[in-house]
Amino acid sequence: MTFEIKGQNNKARIGVLKTRRGDIATPFFMPDATRASVRGITNEQLKSVGVHPMVVNTYHLLLQPGMELMRVSGGVHKLMNWDGPLLSDSGGYQVYSLIHKNAKLGKITEEGAVFKSVLDGSKHLLTPEKAIQIQFDLGVDMMVLLDDPRPNNAPEKEIEQAVERTIRWASRCKVEFEKQIKERDFDDSSRPLLFAVVQGGPFVHLREKCAKALIEIDFDGYSFGGRHVDENGDFMTEIVEKTASFMPEDKPRFALGIGTPLDIVKCHGLGWDMFDCVIPTREGRHGRLFVFNDEDISESGSFYDTMNIANAKFKDDFTPIDENCDCYACQNYTRGYLHHLFRVGEPLGSQMAALHNLRFFVQLMNKLQEK
Ligand SMILES: [Zn+2]
Repeated sequence: MTFEIKGQNNKARIGVLKTRRGDIATPFFMPDATRASVRGITNEQLKSVGVHPMVVNTYHLLLQPGMELMRVSGGVHKLMNWDGPLLSDSGGYQVYSLIHKNAKLGKITEEGAVFKSVLDGSKHLLTPEKAIQIQFDLGVDMMVLLDDPRPNNAPEKEIEQAVERTIRWASRCKVEFEKQIKERDFDDSSRPLLFAVVQGGPFVHLREKCAKALIEIDFDGYSFGGRHVDENGDFMTEIVEKTASFMPEDKPRFALGIGTPLDIVKCHGLGWDMFDCVIPTREGRHGRLFVFNDEDISESGSFYDTMNIANAKFKDDFTPIDENCDCYACQNYTRGYLHHLFRVGEPLGSQMAALHNLRFFVQLMNKLQEK
């Protein structure tokens, strides 16, 4: 069995996800190593803050360094020298966003998505089958099928058609996945896991339709597709809750691209197990640091504060970012020093801020597991 639930409190659950590169306690958070690197952070530093699984991006790696180099190098684990579990997304979201921004850059047909590289103008065709083949060539331990994402404010008819296409593409992905497993001589313990994506935008009945059809095809886990907030930025509790409820109890639920510390806590409370986001590193690069205060983790969101280290009040503050944090930044440097590094634009500042934020996210997951 791939996923084992160890405890449950209302809808929130803790468990273990078994992958070919080791077991992962759930809920867990994966930093984004988009281009096969968590920007500015070494593997040793990642391990020091407790990072285990990470996410790489199929679309970006397909364009650079390209799949030929990926095959020659022996896969993304070897290339980046990371021995922990890696998950790749299908690249569908990036291609859709590219085309959505500029229709001249490609189009989506029943066969797949045709798009032009923004780097060199080269043409690419990403079909459901190719998305699976690429992820096998990357050598990741968890992969995501190619879907057809649409924004929440798209017309219902368009979202319904995208759901239907997502289901048809899911069948094609599953066939290709099984073919690749046979060809590459994998068995149940050596094969990667395949996650489906439940689309349907803000419509409960479309989310249900999509989930039911995908469960029929049968995948190792199920993800939340699209944005979890509405156009006002408000968390769509009903959609996030119902989408989880349509998924099987005994399979991991992946809240793709979510989110802020509070959104993660809310999603976990609604039955989600896996999270990934650029927030800890991106916010860190901008000098925004997450710090726990004394309050228990709750959906009121009062359990943490955000500190803007460039603020003048930190100029002569010679205490650590968080005196209770065991990360390298907190153990070795002061707020005043980091303030100085940000003011003069020294890269060490953003590196230390990202490292501390990663530790905060790992600790948040540990706290949810204990809770
Ligand atoms: Zn720290």
